[in-house]
Amino acid sequence: MKAIIKTTATPGGLELADVPTPETGGYEVLIKIKKTAICGTDIHIYKWDEWAQKTIKTPQIIGHEFVGEVVASGEHVTHLKPGQLVSGEGHIVCGNCRHCITGYPHLCRQTVGIGVNKDGVFSEYITFPAGNVWICDERIPLDILSILDPLGNATHTALAYNVLGEDVLVTGAGPIGLMSVPILKRAGARNIVVTDINDAKLALAQRLGATAVVNVRNDSLSDFLTENSPKLSLKEGFDIGLEMSGNPSAFSDMVNAMANGGKIALLGILPADAQIDWNKIVFNSLTVKGIYGRQMYDTWYRMAALLHSGLVNEIAPVITHRFHYTQYEEAFACARSGESGKVVLDWI
Ligand code: NAD
Ligand code: ZN
Repeated sequence: MKAIIKTTATPGGLELADVPTPETGGYEVLIKIKKTAICGTDIHIYKWDEWAQKTIKTPQIIGHEFVGEVVASGEHVTHLKPGQLVSGEGHIVCGNCRHCITGYPHLCRQTVGIGVNKDGVFSEYITFPAGNVWICDERIPLDILSILDPLGNATHTALAYNVLGEDVLVTGAGPIGLMSVPILKRAGARNIVVTDINDAKLALAQRLGATAVVNVRNDSLSDFLTENSPKLSLKEGFDIGLEMSGNPSAFSDMVNAMANGGKIALLGILPADAQIDWNKIVFNSLTVKGIYGRQMYDTWYRMAALLHSGLVNEIAPVITHRFHYTQYEEAFACARSGESGKVVLDWI
């Protein structure tokens, strides 16, 4: 079968190669991939940054966002059969640790990431643990089903706190920040203010339901608040913050813009030396909660319900580019440009 492989421990180093089709057995299923999407993680691996150098063992098939069809199942698999349309949770947990057995598997320390710690989904076939498979609703377009993983990140973060009637700041209008906007609206947020440094992304945030947007390249968030707080009836700042840029200055802006007692959900992956004014956390009684992946499988159930209630059409514009997998170089260039939303690869 064909697969996109990170072959060398250098920047770039992706190759489309022929590799043996994996065999399935036991508690695993064999999935024929239909569509995959490129995640920031794949870009880190492509660029071979510090994180990738520490984490990835080459050669490795990359990718973890996918939709496909079950074509064979292992002898112990009872609930899945060939022909089913599926996606899956890319974090494989140990199943035995304290968190796993007490209902918090998303906190498992032994988590293995598909496309990170083992071969990924940018291939014609993949074997997948049956317990990690999510059966898809066939009425939902394949493009949308290929991005359930990041939609799950958005859902997990947007629902980390009760946002009903609250004023919410979202820093970063990448795909995940954008998808969080309609979720926040459905969950009853009062104001949703989105920041980014790219006008096209902010225009999309507005289309998805943001109350206001701020391009922090041109305007400071604090100036925006001074001018617009009365209009938005924002008295003391934001109740809830969703950091979705991974940019230190966005996080610092957020800490400064929170109301006392405000709550921050931190999804963006910041550099280790990112600075904030820690005394703002102390004296303003702020809560900061790290968000990793999706809750298994609470987030998946909530996401399915949101999709059924109309989220499918709302998030569709977040997918901006589509390529055949053989055009992977072009697709990665597009995803690296900083101008695209979600980039989907077609494997059919
Ligand atoms: P992305 O890189 O596509 O989006 C980030 C956005 O932030 C971009 O639109 C960029 O223009 C914007 N930005 C840059 N500087 C900014 C600033 N100073 N203020 C406001 N916005 C700014 O990423 P994504 O795929 O949407 O993911 C969002 C973040 O979440 C990334 O940091 C990613 O690494 C992280 N992530 C975390 C998890 C997790 O489990 N914790 C999972 C997936 C992604
Ligand atoms: Zn565990």
